[in-house]
Amino acid sequence: MNLEYTTADKEGNLEYPVCPLCGSDRREFLFRLNGPYKIARCAACGVHYLHPRLIESAIRDAYQQSSYYQGGTCGYADTSYNDQERALRATFKRLLNNLSRRGLTGGDVLEVGCGYGYLLDEARTYFDLRVGTDFSGAAAATARATGAEVFVGGIEEVPRDSRFDCVIATQVIEHVYQPLFFVEQLVNHTKSGGHIVLATPDMGGVLRKTMGRRWPSFKVPEHVLYFDSRTLSMLMSRVGLRDVRRLPYPHAFPLGLIAAKFRLRMPPLLARVNVWVPATTVAVYGTVSNG
Ligand SMILES: [Zn+2]
Repeated sequence: MNLEYTTADKEGNLEYPVCPLCGSDRREFLFRLNGPYKIARCAACGVHYLHPRLIESAIRDAYQQSSYYQGGTCGYADTSYNDQERALRATFKRLLNNLSRRGLTGGDVLEVGCGYGYLLDEARTYFDLRVGTDFSGAAAATARATGAEVFVGGIEEVPRDSRFDCVIATQVIEHVYQPLFFVEQLVNHTKSGGHIVLATPDMGGVLRKTMGRRWPSFKVPEHVLYFDSRTLSMLMSRVGLRDVRRLPYPHAFPLGLIAAKFRLRMPPLLARVNVWVPATTVAVYGTVSNG
């Protein structure tokens, strides 16, 4: 589901950015999407970005409306809300398990863009203190019911002196207008020796390559950046993170959602079954060292 933003076509709400990662104005265009939007590939660093894009103040207004979540941030309006929740929880359980196996759990966790708090809820047994942020007040209120401390807004709402052992942002960086500044802020909230985990739709994945411009993660106007493992690792290295590594991130989807994409009807019990899809999401983690 794309944001229902009726003024998106107005020229005054659009801007024509240089590469948000390296500042280059050299680009080639890969796809034309809806309306004025195109996917550009930076000729200097290789990251993909939306061009033009909605000005940031206009898109923040849209995020603060709880209706953004009604269809699910991932756009699964055609499956039941409960099935989506089950699939997301299964996805986050596996992520936490993968983090734990690498020694990245324990201590305090901050999740930026926590939505309804499914990850923070599943994280109870992995972390002592759980803190989140989300631009939607309604989502933050639900996330707070998991016992986590949740701030309404972005990373700037987290108290300046709060530092965490692990900072996680899944399906957030593709929305961010100033990615280097954003990750620097994450670093400022991470203890020395702590870790930052970023996950985002995989521009280099098989699904994207197979589906071309019909890839569901080409979502305008809200997705302004598109990473693969190389460009996502580059982003983290540029802000000084050490030992940047890829993390497996299989994603569960309700079978009914996949069937709906192909316009197939599915018996309700079968539609609830989770299917694990690899290569839809790329995830990397890096270590903060303030030495
Ligand atoms: Zn660039």
